[in-house]
Parts: sequence; C-alpha cells; structure tokens
Amino acid sequence: MTYDRMNQAELEAALAAERERYDAFLRAKLSLNMARGKPSRKQLDQVSDILTALTDCDLCVDEGIDSRNYGELFGLPSARRYWAEILGCRENQTFVGGSSSLTMMYEVLNFAWNHGLKNSVRPWRQEEKVKFLCPTPGYDRHFRVTQFLGAELIPVPMTACGPDMDRVEELVKDPAVKGIWCVPKYSNPQGITYSAETVERMAALRCAAPDFVIMWDNAYCIHEFKGGYVEFPDIISLCAEKGNPDMVYEFASTSKVTFPGAGFSVVASSEENIRHLGKLMGNMMICFDKVNQLRHVKYLKNKEHTLEIMKRHAAFLEPKFRVVAEALNREIAPCGFGSWTDPVGGYFVCMDTMPGTAKRALQLCGEAGVTMTPAGATHPYGIDPEDKTIRIAPSFPPVEELETAMQVFCCCVKIAALEKRTGRI
Ligand code: PMP
Repeated sequence: MTYDRMNQAELEAALAAERERYDAFLRAKLSLNMARGKPSRKQLDQVSDILTALTDCDLCVDEGIDSRNYGELFGLPSARRYWAEILGCRENQTFVGGSSSLTMMYEVLNFAWNHGLKNSVRPWRQEEKVKFLCPTPGYDRHFRVTQFLGAELIPVPMTACGPDMDRVEELVKDPAVKGIWCVPKYSNPQGITYSAETVERMAALRCAAPDFVIMWDNAYCIHEFKGGYVEFPDIISLCAEKGNPDMVYEFASTSKVTFPGAGFSVVASSEENIRHLGKLMGNMMICFDKVNQLRHVKYLKNKEHTLEIMKRHAAFLEPKFRVVAEALNREIAPCGFGSWTDPVGGYFVCMDTMPGTAKRALQLCGEAGVTMTPAGATHPYGIDPEDKTIRIAPSFPPVEELETAMQVFCCCVKIAALEKRTGRI
C-alpha cells in the first residue's frame, strides 16, 4: 500500500518494520560508498595498457615533435586532431591541456574574472555584480568555481529536455548575467541529454552581456553504458551559425575513459577565442604534459577505437545501474512517493525523495556505513530548498556490495519518509 493511503497505525507498523531492518544493517558494520562518480578498480585495470603505450625514445617523437621537451602550448597536433574528431570541431578550435577539464574551466573563468574574455568591456571583477546561471540539480564543483570567484549563483530548473530555456532566455536579458553551466549529455546528476531544441535555443541566445559564456561541459559525451553511441551536435559551429561565434567554451577529458585525474583534457571554442586563450595561458606556463597527451593518443588512437574502449567500460557499468533501478522500483515505487531518473549514460542516477526528508535519509545512510553525496550538493550554495534531491553514484563498488548498499539506502529513504508521515520530522 502507498504511504498516503495508510492510517496512523499502519504507518507506525511500517516504520517499526523498517527500523528492525535498519538495526540489522547497523549490526553488520558496513562500509560502502556511493558518493562519487569514480570508475571501479576493474574498469581501471581494463585500460591499464596505456601505462606501456610509450616504451622507447623513438615513440616519444610524434610528427617530428619531441613530446619530452618544451613546446606546443596548444597541445600536440595529434592530440588536437584526436579531440577535434571526438567533439566534431576543427583542430584549430582546440586547446589540449593537462589532466583535468575542471582546471581548464576554472582557468577560463579566472581569466574572465581578472583580465576579461575576448569580448569583455572590462574584467568581470570590475563589474558591480556578476551572476551565473546554474541549471539545478547540477554538478557541485561547477557551482563551487563560480561561487569561489565571487559570482552570484542563479538556479535555473532542469526539465527532461535540459535547462528551462524560457527562464534562461529571460534571465540573459540582465547584463549582470555572464554565463551558464551546461552538461549537455548525460548531465550530472540526472543523466539528462539536452534535446535538439534546447541546444539550438542555447546557441541562439540573445544576451545583454557581450561576453556571456556558455560553459559546455561535455564530460560524458561518449559515455553510453546502455544502447549504442549517440551522436551529439557540434555546439561551436551551431553558435557560429546563430551569430554567437565566441559564446561557447566546450570541455571534455578522458577522466572516465582512462584514469580520473591522470587523463588529458581539452577546451574547444572559436578559433579566435582559442588564440586569445593561448595568449593568456602563455603567461602561466610553457606547455602542458605532452608525454601524457601522446601516451593517450597512441593508446586511444581515434574516435572509433575510443568508442570500443567505452563499450568495455559499459559492460561493467550497465549491471550496476540495473541494480539501482531494480532496487528503487522494487522498494520505493510501491510506497507511492519519489521519482528517479533512468539514464543510459554518464555516472549518476538522481532521485527526488519525499520533500523534507533527503538530509535525514542520508544521515541514516551515513550512520549505517553507506557514504552518499551530501544532501544539497546538487544545488547552488549546497542548499536544496525542498530537501529532496539525492545523487546516487553506483560506479565504484562491486555489484554485490552495491546490492547491499541499495538495500540500506532504500531502507533509510523509507524510514525518513515514514518519520515525516508520522510527524516525527
Ligand atoms: N565535469 C563533470 C560534469 C563531472 O561530472 C566531472 C567529474 N565528476 C568533471 C567535470 C571532472 O572532470 P576532470 O576530471 O576532467 O576535471
């Protein structure tokens, strides 16, 4: 029976039964983790041949360029070609960097803040106010970058097709609104892929700020775990077609292709933006780690081969996402509250539980030894006003552990909902 149809006595009985289950979990002294989107040990083992991709001196010289030496600020030409093929843009629209795309995002906005972007009238720090649009739920580290730099974070609701574009189009009429965070494919945390209409409207935005920037974080652009690879549009040429050639910076990395934190990353934008970015980056460094870039190009080869490698990851990930969906459908759906996403790519499932109970549910999880992403992390400033959104990251634990972790999780979600229903919280 659903909770909303139960009388007080039935709710009390259901709560007592879940608490009994919970006490058994407590006695088991578990230590399980569904907090971060990390590949499992087995996934990392699958791609560890990359460690021997560069074994002798001759291999380190690529198209006449010695990767071991200084030079090529914009990245090795073969690395730029590799990313251009993945993203569907041109080689001279890419800047290949180091091991973290998040660092590249930070650098672009840091340059905007301190020096201004190509179309800025002044550095953002000299503006009276800078506002940044944050599709919500979203990725905590995006929000953190813009909060740290001093922008005001403006939540924009996510829909099943991507950010609410009516809201976005209205908000960008304010010249203080300088940009938006986007994860267009298998968004973190909902796993939503923006519809073609959302992407078109995003590229065609008419913004009051001349240096408005779309931070197009394509972190999961080739990360299907169910079904085949799904093509995605080249946002850079789309923006150019719509008369906004300099508006978008696209980011990607191999953090979930090879090794998180030890892969290689890219920022792509109009040729002019990339040239300008090179000038700014040139004040900071001579070049990124080209040995690592070359190791990756030798190992990943091209898009076709990379997609083959992604299928190997998918074989590990798909069963884990199935465990999550089955547990939620079996345990929560019959209770008649909550909703959750059922993505076919990316690293996360997002659940909306009964409003006012997410914190309590995750507190119970923590006390039972199941670590989850903290409640609120999916919202700007870490505050979920309805206290209902929970991010589930099932990729790291082995399937057997995940099954137990999901049982604990569902039990905690139900206890919190029953506590709410019985007036305890
Ligand atoms: N963007 C998104 C949307 C992510 O989910 C993550 C990792 N969780 C990152 C960026 C981090 O990327 P990198 O390791 O390249 O810094």
